[in-house]
Amino acid sequence: ALGGVGYMSYVIYILRTPDDQFNPDPSKKTLVILGTGWGSVSLLKKLDTENYNVVVISPRNFFLFTPLLPSCTTGTIEHRSIMEPIRNILRHKKATVKYYEADATKIDYERKVVHINDESEIKGDTSSTEVPFDMLVVGVGAENATFGIPGVREHSCFLKEVGDAQQIRKRIMDCVETASFKDQSPEERRRLLHMVVVGGGPTGVEFAGELQDFFEQDLKKWIPEITDDFHVTLVEALPNVLPMFSKQLIDYTESTFKEESISIRTKTMVKKVTDKFIEAEFTKPDGTKQLETLPYGLLVWATGNAVRPVVKDLMSQIPAQKDSRRGLSVNEYLVVNGTENIWAVGDCAIANYAPTAQVASQEGAFLARLFNSLAKTETINLELASLSNQQSKAPNPAARNEIFENIKALQKTLRRVKQIGPFEYSHQGSLAYIGSERAVADISWLSGNFASGGTLTYLFWKSAYLNMCFSTRNRVLVCIDWMKARLFGRDVSR
Ligand code: NAD
Repeated sequence: ALGGVGYMSYVIYILRTPDDQFNPDPSKKTLVILGTGWGSVSLLKKLDTENYNVVVISPRNFFLFTPLLPSCTTGTIEHRSIMEPIRNILRHKKATVKYYEADATKIDYERKVVHINDESEIKGDTSSTEVPFDMLVVGVGAENATFGIPGVREHSCFLKEVGDAQQIRKRIMDCVETASFKDQSPEERRRLLHMVVVGGGPTGVEFAGELQDFFEQDLKKWIPEITDDFHVTLVEALPNVLPMFSKQLIDYTESTFKEESISIRTKTMVKKVTDKFIEAEFTKPDGTKQLETLPYGLLVWATGNAVRPVVKDLMSQIPAQKDSRRGLSVNEYLVVNGTENIWAVGDCAIANYAPTAQVASQEGAFLARLFNSLAKTETINLELASLSNQQSKAPNPAARNEIFENIKALQKTLRRVKQIGPFEYSHQGSLAYIGSERAVADISWLSGNFASGGTLTYLFWKSAYLNMCFSTRNRVLVCIDWMKARLFGRDVSR
């Protein structure tokens, strides 16, 4: 049987070769796309790859459905259920797309090349090379903001990638098991079981809610001795959490957290982190500051985005980017200001919108429409030029007339090719899970806003996220994970 499988793979290999090999067509422009996140993948999904030599470069060979990442930290959802291999996405495209699993380390704007590095675990070394481009889309996202606060990088966990979620999951269980160890002192137990989340944006809030659920629904039952000391604290520098939600939903979230016994410490700015303590400055109602020390076992740092070095370096090469601080400033067609052949999407681009998955995915879809239309227009214009050339050389009036008719038909087609207007973001709303099977939603409905919170909103949150998953495979896997967690509880192994 194995021989049969081997033979089949050989036949498939033969069938895919050489037509499926990446042979850049010199008559087409080379479009290089950096990243495999929301912006880049949404562009790839809708891009007609026959029009360009498309090259995708990203160190992550899968698309990650980030809205459900907080659920992976507690094992409610297994990380593979929200990953979609990039090869799976590319194999459905009409023309072959070249993918390099590599880090883009530098974009040389003058020479129109991207420097890439591939760290090979097998070879144990790094291969570097250059990839030339005619058009470039930068969709590399952002890194975690630490604001240079001492100790954050060394001691905290972030929540951006699959590896972060796995690290948090291990760390939670490590804290719980170590706290239950023989002869542990009461203070050390309390420290280990104090789970601190810094940043009251949606990432911090959703994680805090998931963690408290994990404790209430599973940990408490399996390891009852931790019940009195397990505690989740959310620390936020501003006067309230979830600043992008309406006042009513902020209040609802805060009161739900209170019911769930999650402490919220607002107006508290973390200044320093050591291996066991957080030093924070609390602003009292009279405006005076007070320094506080919080012991912790797990620290999750969710204070938003910072610019990646590759983006910073590109900005330094373009004079028009000199005043931009938070990322690449782009015009209304998402062209990086100061360039003609570079576009930016998602969290590395500064348009007028919050850096969300929703914005990135709409930007990617917009660029696909723009590039498809540009390619169509260019092909028609080339055909028109060639026809007028033929017309001037036509041997007789009848032939000239026939070419004239063809030109007219083509001009009509050209007028029909949709002229793409500037990018306009359509905000569908914001959703966040807040624990104990409740969610908050600020939905844009017709021309107004609709705010809701509670269990029904949680069902809406579930169905909306399920609907937004990348593939049917992802949807099925997520449903199975939800069912598994409900029937058997979450897996508490490390
Ligand atoms: P965020 O930028 O939304 O929130 C970070 C919070 O950390 C801020 O409120 C800030 O005041 C606080 N902070 C910063 N430094 C601090 C310090 N030293 N001490 C204490 N608090 C500090 O970050 P996020 O939650 O990671 O979200 C990033 C982006 O992604 C946002 O645009 C967000 O809307 C989006 N997002 C949306 C969803 C959703 O809609 N469900 C989920 C995740 C992320």
